[in-house]
This record gives sequence, C-alpha cells and structure tokens, in this order.
Amino acid sequence: MKSFAYVSAPDVEAAVRAISTEPNAKFLGGGTNLVDLMREEVEAPDTIIDITRLPLTDVVELPGGGLRIGALVRNSHLAANQLIRSRYPLLSQAILTGASAQLRNMATVGGNLLQRTRCFYFYDSTSACNKREPGTGCDAIGGFNRNHAVLGGSESCIATHPSDMAVALAALDAVIEVESVRGVRRIPLVEFHQLPGETPDVETSLAADELITAVELPALPIAATSRYRKVRDRASYAFALVSVAAALEVEDGHITAVRLALGGVAAKPWRAYEAERLLQGSPATEETFRKAAAAELAPATGQSQNAFKIELAQRTIVATLNQLLTDGGAA
Ligand code: SF4
Repeated sequence: MKSFAYVSAPDVEAAVRAISTEPNAKFLGGGTNLVDLMREEVEAPDTIIDITRLPLTDVVELPGGGLRIGALVRNSHLAANQLIRSRYPLLSQAILTGASAQLRNMATVGGNLLQRTRCFYFYDSTSACNKREPGTGCDAIGGFNRNHAVLGGSESCIATHPSDMAVALAALDAVIEVESVRGVRRIPLVEFHQLPGETPDVETSLAADELITAVELPALPIAATSRYRKVRDRASYAFALVSVAAALEVEDGHITAVRLALGGVAAKPWRAYEAERLLQGSPATEETFRKAAAAELAPATGQSQNAFKIELAQRTIVATLNQLLTDGGAA
C-alpha cells in the first residue's frame, strides 16, 4: 500500500475544506471497500480524510412523512431501524442480503453508494481494465463475465454496480444530498450512478471535492408493500447475479402504483421505467408481469457467460411481483 497523510475532520465544513485543497484525497467512512482498493493499489490517495466523527449518524423524520438518513449511518443500524422496517421494508431486506454482519456493522450509507465494482479484472493490476486504467481495454469482454452487465454496458466496460441498498433506494425515489465548499446539492439517486459509455472510470455525478451528507426518502405509502429479492450463487456473502426491488399497490384487481428496480444487471441500479409504464393501470396478473418484464429486458445483451441473466431477471421480476400480490410486503 502506498503511504498517505492522515487528517481527521471534526465537522462537515472542515471535511469539505480539507478536500478542496487536496486534489488526490479520499474520505474514509467505514473503509470496507476503500481499504481493500488501497491494498491492491487500485486506489492510491495522497491523503485520507477521516470523516467518522462527523455528526451524520441519525435517521430523522421529515415533515410530511419522509426520512433523512445521515451518510454515516451504519448499514446494520439502518436495516434494524423501526421506521425503515415499517415504511420501507424492501430497504431493510436489501441491506440484510448484502455482505456479512461484520461488514454491515462497519459500512456506511454514503460509502455503500460509492463502492466500486467487484469485477475481477478491476482488482487485478496485470489485467486490461478501462475503468482502472482508461484506454487499456476490457478483459471481461470475452473473459470471465458471469457476473457482468446485460443492460447499459458498452464496448469499454460491462461491469455491474455491487450495491443491494442502492437498488432499493432507486425504487424508492431517494435523493442524495452532497456538500462542498460551493454549497449543498441534491441529486436524484437514479441520476447519481453513470453508465460506462466511453468513460467507465467516471462512475457517479459526484465531484471530486463533494461529500455525501445524507440520503432522503420521500413519503411513499406504496413502499409499505415492498420486497427485495436477490438471486446469487450462494446463500450469503455473495453479490447479486440479479436482484429485484419492487413495491406494488393493487385496487380492484388493477395496478394503481408500482416501483421496480433491478440490481446485478448494469453499472448502476437499474430503475425499470418501461416495465413500470406497462404495469401501471393493467390487471395484476402473472401475464401482465411477464409482458412487463420481457419489455424491460428487451434491450439486454448477453456476453459469453452471462446471457442467462436476461431470462433470470425476467423470472425474478415476475416472482417478486407475484409474491407481493399474494403475501404483501412484510418481511
Ligand atoms: Fe474493467 Fe469494466 Fe472491463 Fe471489468 S468490465 S475489466 S471493470 S473495463
């Protein structure tokens, strides 16, 4: 690991001031991904700004029924929060499917959003990887790509985003609050992560000197009937092959509201807008669910080892919506 300078920030103002004067600095929250990346020298910051003492550890009710989640709330605390469990059960479920209990105890909300892909070649400095080293190529295309993207990929990169939590937040219309010396900015979560295009090294719309301070969830009554379903190669401590975050509201046999997002299929949490459009107002039947899932996956493209994900994603959408229809969303 390359040596680095260490700074501890006492408050948000000091943290953003520190990073504004240090072009190659990184914030340290839980460190569960950053430290691994530094060990492999994929990340090699000159300065680490420790933000673990910042007062961003609360979940607060907002006027109107939404919630404001501090960026340093630990994943395990958020999953156990009673307001989250009752109003947004899919978020609690998503977090509990991610990583191990020990990692969830360390990992923070802000860090979870910024974690890097788990593409094998990204962590291997002997491999060609446009994300790690722009212009070198992509060894996953034609290589080991079982876990890679089927939606939104490019000739430069087919990596997936590894977060479960972010998929649930995409379905919930969450908004990310970020701060820098220039002030505060709010970014819808669905616009935060970027598809690779020709610049897979650019992963989010966060500027290098901005700090995530909070995630806000709007009041969303439909979210009380919601589920997160994750399909993976083993029962725990594995990233999603495919995951589905869904919320469903049905009246008189017709769908009156729906939220749907997919994980494990793209470089960002994939909000399934086309499926939502077809589901809205339609009869709540398995046939409807199948047609909507097929339409959402119609643009998907498989690689040598991951084409199975296209069918798997459709089946998982249908299974999740069927489960919501019959059992509701309680965990
Ligand atoms: Fe790198 Fe992306 Fe290719 Fe993986 S898929 S090797 S992260 S460029």
